[in-house]
Amino acid sequence: MNREQIYQYLSFYQDLGVKNIYRSKAAAAVEPAAAGEPVAAVEPVALPSIAPAGDTLLKIVEDLGDCRRCRLSEGRSKIVFGSGNEHARLVFVGEGPGADEDAQGFPFVGRAGQLLTQMIENTASKEGIPIHRPDVYICNVVKCRPPENRTPLPDEMEICGEFLFRQIMAIKPKAICALGSTAAKALLATKDGVTRLRGHWHKWRDIPLIVTYHPSYLLRPYNQNAKREAWEDLKKVLHFVYD
Ligand code: URA
Repeated sequence: MNREQIYQYLSFYQDLGVKNIYRSKAAAAVEPAAAGEPVAAVEPVALPSIAPAGDTLLKIVEDLGDCRRCRLSEGRSKIVFGSGNEHARLVFVGEGPGADEDAQGFPFVGRAGQLLTQMIENTASKEGIPIHRPDVYICNVVKCRPPENRTPLPDEMEICGEFLFRQIMAIKPKAICALGSTAAKALLATKDGVTRLRGHWHKWRDIPLIVTYHPSYLLRPYNQNAKREAWEDLKKVLHFVYD
């Protein structure tokens, strides 16, 4: 690959929101053209898409394999890929698996998960929207539990992000709900916190996206105001998607 082709390659991924590219083999050095030497016409490079045509969740699971791409794999029990309806109209994105999720291999099955289920099902039922948790799709920014439940590091988010982006592109939901600031950061490339981001619509590529509080934050007793706001956010996104 020459310099121009590398430029095309990197621009393509940059447009998709990918900021780092990891390579496993040393790349051949690019020979600079000698001064005054005509630069050869550049053949467009065939770009390996991060979302191959006809991508499915099954293909993504296969490509992910027994992932060892980052340090989080060292401490995990199970990869937490995601769960729910492959054709969901609404995708929730959390931060990363906790202890319960790591043990069971499914996202949001611990206390925060129970609250998320309640929030989805109670809001839907109160608003006359006939959906249950299995109708939506739920996944996380990273698929392996970070040690001590720490926030995933930027390189971990980048590496796992390739698979998260493919999941969302394969599902093609009508909207995305980012749960907490880590999910918002991964999808919107922003440093803003939830308080600033919630309450209005954003976009991930062409898909409308709403940001709300992470259920773990809502479990803390002093965050009752946030709970009310999260219910409002959920109402908004559920009506947008299912009305
Ligand atoms: N918190 C998350 O962000 N994701 C889970 O799956 C569980 C807890």
